[in-house]
Amino acid sequence: MGEDYGNGKMDSRSGTQPARCLVCGRPLAGRTDKKFCSDRCRNIYNNGRYRRQRKRLCDFNRTLVTNYYLLRQMVASGKHSCPKAALLRSGFDPKCFTASVETVFFRWYRCFDLRYRVGRKFVHLKDDENY
Ligand SMILES: [Zn+2]
Repeated sequence: MGEDYGNGKMDSRSGTQPARCLVCGRPLAGRTDKKFCSDRCRNIYNNGRYRRQRKRLCDFNRTLVTNYYLLRQMVASGKHSCPKAALLRSGFDPKCFTASVETVFFRWYRCFDLRYRVGRKFVHLKDDENY
């Protein structure tokens, strides 16, 4: 990788620099929509992309579970509100939810079966079915 197999001259066919492999940077010949010079480079690229996507999904799921656990603790302790700062310190991420609903006054978020809204200083649980 990183080696330059091109000659640095313009591509005589089109008058522009030839497209290069996204992985190793070799000039690409043939179809104009090619992205890789070989199956090997395509696999390297796709494996990396898949790993990154899987990691993002795992991080998101882990945060969702943390959010759910913290909201469940509020339910278990009979609290309808909790200081936002305390939840954030415990790992709560307000940007991580399973759905959201906008009402006239508030935006409610759903974390699986629990609904909450994020105020300026408090996170409030929704304790009835009225949206
Ligand atoms: Zn390549």
